[in-house]
Amino acid sequence: MPARKAMQVCPTPGCPTLTPAGRCPTCQAKARAARPQPNTRGYNTAWRKASAAYLQTHPYCECETCAQLPQLQRDLATEVDHIDGLGPLGPRGFDPTNWQAMSKRHHSRKTAAETWGT
Ligand SMILES: [Zn+2]
Ligand SMILES: [Zn+2]
Repeated sequence: MPARKAMQVCPTPGCPTLTPAGRCPTCQAKARAARPQPNTRGYNTAWRKASAAYLQTHPYCECETCAQLPQLQRDLATEVDHIDGLGPLGPRGFDPTNWQAMSKRHHSRKTAAETWGT
């Protein structure tokens, strides 16, 4: 019988999984999937004001799905998405031609696709 290797708790904070060495497979997969996410930063007061003004003139969701629908069937837009995916800190963060109005659920769907890949 080869000596049984001692199991250790995964070094990721809050993860209780026992693993032979290093991070557990789940955390390794998460670390691989994690990318720099500039679109989580820069959503400050200036951005909120700019996006609120944009929504006044773009009241309906402009996502790819809704763009196919007659206006009456579209979701009401509550958020402004950056088409380039870089958020307010991107080079076109405050360029309205880089914005599209989106409903919360459609924006979440797009963000999830960007984060996890398609
Ligand atoms: Zn873990
Ligand atoms: Zn939509």
